[in-house]
Amino acid sequence: MNKPKYVYLDYAATTPMDQRVIEEMNAHFKDTYGNSSSLHSVGQKAAQTLVKSREIVASIINANRADIYFTSSGTEADNIALMGVALKNQKKGNHIITSAIEHHAVENTCKHLKKSGFDVTFLPVDNLGLINLEELEETITKNTVLISIMFANNEIGTIEPIKEIGEIAKKHDVIFHTDAVQAFGKIPIDVNEMNIDLLSASAHKLYGPKGVGMLYIRNKGIREGWGKYIEPIMFGGGHERDMRPSTVNVPGIAGFAKAVELAKEEMPKEIERLSRLRDKVIDFVLKNIEDSYLNGHPTRRLPNNVNLGIRFIEGESMVLDLDGQGIATSTGSACSSKSLDPSHVLLAIGLKPQEAHGSLRITVGRFTTEEDIDYFLEKLPPIIERLRKMSPLKKGKNH
Ligand SMILES: *Cc1c(COP(=O)(O)O)cnc(C)c1O
Repeated sequence: MNKPKYVYLDYAATTPMDQRVIEEMNAHFKDTYGNSSSLHSVGQKAAQTLVKSREIVASIINANRADIYFTSSGTEADNIALMGVALKNQKKGNHIITSAIEHHAVENTCKHLKKSGFDVTFLPVDNLGLINLEELEETITKNTVLISIMFANNEIGTIEPIKEIGEIAKKHDVIFHTDAVQAFGKIPIDVNEMNIDLLSASAHKLYGPKGVGMLYIRNKGIREGWGKYIEPIMFGGGHERDMRPSTVNVPGIAGFAKAVELAKEEMPKEIERLSRLRDKVIDFVLKNIEDSYLNGHPTRRLPNNVNLGIRFIEGESMVLDLDGQGIATSTGSACSSKSLDPSHVLLAIGLKPQEAHGSLRITVGRFTTEEDIDYFLEKLPPIIERLRKMSPLKKGKNH
């Protein structure tokens, strides 16, 4: 079959930008150069762009415009949420609950807080990647100030029971943060219906620019505002109501808003189209490749995520061989950290280190075509066969 130009199947790592976002940003780079805090008309033009962008970004999660704080990334939003709530509530309590499968942005911030004297519980997950709601509720003490559980996992695609977690948090008067970077704009989110107090998102996972993110902070009470339960962790010139006080990246934010506008329009049809491509990959591999299995939940799963376990070979070798054929994928052994430590997520769902090393993540997106998937499914089996022939981890030996 004809070889597509380059088959990018790593949308969970980052996405190419949508051309319509690039056009929007180009116009703003040129014309909206003012500082949004300036009184003159170029500054006010930037301020108006921010108001409009905030409105659009808020609307996709049913939030108030005033509760959106733009940041430089998803990582920064996670840091502000966790550190800001932990530091503000020290008098009330020092216990934070999170999960064992969080993105490093949450995981490592929690580890830092733990080293600084906070009490952090990393809730385990079951073998499909779900936290246990009863266990969550039992873990809450009078010292618990924050629950931070991700909306959907970036490696295995499992979608957590966010609404139920929100109910538990509300019942016990604990603040609830969710890292929604992978779910935002891909599946429906409603911060009110789901009782979410804080939510992190990032533009570059949604066909927008890198280096732009946002933190939703529910305003609990008109007078107190966020001052009641979260404090800034950076200090400067007052932008984003002191929560992220540096000169605002207006063209980037306008691009983020454009990406959200497009996501709103295309979500229903993208969910359907991407789920079909996802299931085509899963069905083909489980049927045609011996000793393969699916990591993550079979149904509570992001529409664009496939994570496969392929026994007896290394994920890294598969990724490199696929790249040699012009196909970009990822693995749980080396993708994020460059170290050879197996992914903490795959270990948390009960995989042995050797199994975690044999994982292959395929994530599809807006520009993935049926031809891309057919090409990938044509190239994958011979690569696996070849690697297995050379593999020292022969069947029977290590299992
Ligand atoms: C990518 C990602 C982040 C980090 O976002 P950046 O904007 O790259 O800092 C955080 N959490 C999850 C779940 C992610 O997938």
